[in-house]
Amino acid sequence: MKITVLSGKGGTGKTTVATNLALSLENVQLLDADVEEPDSYIFLKPEFGEEYEPVKRTVPVIDEDKCTACRKCVDFCEYNALAMMLDKVLVFPEICHSCGGCMRICPEKAITEKEREIGKIRWDESGKEVEFWQGELNIGEESSVPVIEHLKKHINDEKTVIIDAQPGTTCPTVEAAIDSDYCLLVTEPTPFGLNDLKMAVEMIKEIGKPCGVIINRSEEGYNHIIEDYCKEEGIPVLMKIPFKRRIAELYSVGIPFVEELSGWKERFQELYTRIKEAIEK
Ligand code: SF4
Ligand code: SF4
Repeated sequence: MKITVLSGKGGTGKTTVATNLALSLENVQLLDADVEEPDSYIFLKPEFGEEYEPVKRTVPVIDEDKCTACRKCVDFCEYNALAMMLDKVLVFPEICHSCGGCMRICPEKAITEKEREIGKIRWDESGKEVEFWQGELNIGEESSVPVIEHLKKHINDEKTVIIDAQPGTTCPTVEAAIDSDYCLLVTEPTPFGLNDLKMAVEMIKEIGKPCGVIINRSEEGYNHIIEDYCKEEGIPVLMKIPFKRRIAELYSVGIPFVEELSGWKERFQELYTRIKEAIEK
């Protein structure tokens, strides 16, 4: 079973949910697909080795001796990764999507490709109960999706897989969620939280995945902001994590609260059971 944990915006508690859920289950794998800013490692404390898997993409290389400055490649590139300056084609590798189209349409066969590293995959070598993999996008790179695609190659179908997705509703979040069996949406009971939750729900509807909501920093007087919307949409609120100083203190020193506060492992196990039942339905 693959569960993707996501949120419409950053800072809502997505990593808190992903790591605490993983630490409450057995035979589990956690993939940190928030590759622009992976932070699950702060709570899981993995032992990364020296070795890593590079994530590479191809980018065009222009042979100036063959190029006749016809501009066909520049006009073709939808991503504006090519520009013409003084009859010379300039390549902006960070925004190239490696589609290979410019190479195919060049009438002079003046374009070839070369590989460049855009990110890396690391893994925990400590042998802990939670099998942990982390994707990292190199600084200055634009495109997270290839790193997430590469990370997902390490999904272990023999285990329960939890994917900590990038916040938002753009391509990297869709890529993290697209193969999952269930999406767990983490939000907070504020108007901003509701606004971003609505966008995340629209995205999930598009990709056709079952989903449920977790309210983080839950407070009785404010939960109705999220609960009313979930009721209208027929989305279950599966868990509420209270706005408590002790939980915030543990978070601030990188301690998953299931390890310190009694009863929470059991609640996350119940959450898992509800997700499983929803998928089976
Ligand atoms: S399509 Fe080929 S020949 Fe034309 S500008 Fe681009 S690289 Fe040069
Ligand atoms: S490979 Fe595709 S995205 Fe990259 S420069 Fe060529 S046309 Fe643009």
